[in-house]
Amino acid sequence: MLTSAEVILLDVYDLHENDRIVTMLSPTHGKVRGVARGARRKYSRFAGALQPLAKAKVTWYQKEGRDLARISGVELIRPAHRLQSDLEGILLGGCLAGHVLEFAQENDPSDHLFRLLDSTIAALVEGVDRSLAMRYFEAWVLRLAGIFPPPVECPECGRDLSGGAVLAAAEDSLVCATCGSGRAISAAAVAFLMQIGREPLKRVAASPPLPEVVQEVEALIGRIRRSFLQHELKSYRVMQETLCSPSRA
Ligand SMILES: [Zn+2]
Repeated sequence: MLTSAEVILLDVYDLHENDRIVTMLSPTHGKVRGVARGARRKYSRFAGALQPLAKAKVTWYQKEGRDLARISGVELIRPAHRLQSDLEGILLGGCLAGHVLEFAQENDPSDHLFRLLDSTIAALVEGVDRSLAMRYFEAWVLRLAGIFPPPVECPECGRDLSGGAVLAAAEDSLVCATCGSGRAISAAAVAFLMQIGREPLKRVAASPPLPEVVQEVEALIGRIRRSFLQHELKSYRVMQETLCSPSRA
């Protein structure tokens, strides 16, 4: 089947002497892996269009029963080099792609995830606060995967959580202080998570919470993600190790 769609490229690596393997997210087909024949040649028709996190119109042919599609055309819509102009930007980009590579499925319509990734990259390119954009993205990736709904009320007893919550012992949900005895989560962090659930990133960025609240939510989301995946995302670990290493302190 021949398909042409706007996609976001997630991962590009070399195959043999001349080709490249591309993994991309399409709103209609989810994660798609394809080979771009001749993409490493000097005068390739793919030229410089195959960049991770770039948005592009891609045409590919998927043969029934084959997991690798054949990519026949790539038209760049939005390059990603402005996002990746410094080390932190490159690492954040890796983290965005890493989340989608982990959570997106093949042959599964991913319209919401596609729009989330697309709008987050666009906001980052426009210069929105990086930490805020990443928390927004991480929280929504979990939510779209069916984990970690907005903390409106305690799932055990129904009590309102707007005054604060605790992380359940299994580290998979927020409960009230009567139903759990884990790590305390501040009222401001609960409010930030609720805001993420109902407002677009740009509006959240217009009235951001205090930096320590953003940090608290980063740690919380990390725990819930690790509890679900049973491991940390490699791209996230690399980012943390690189940005927190003593040589940069
Ligand atoms: Zn409760």
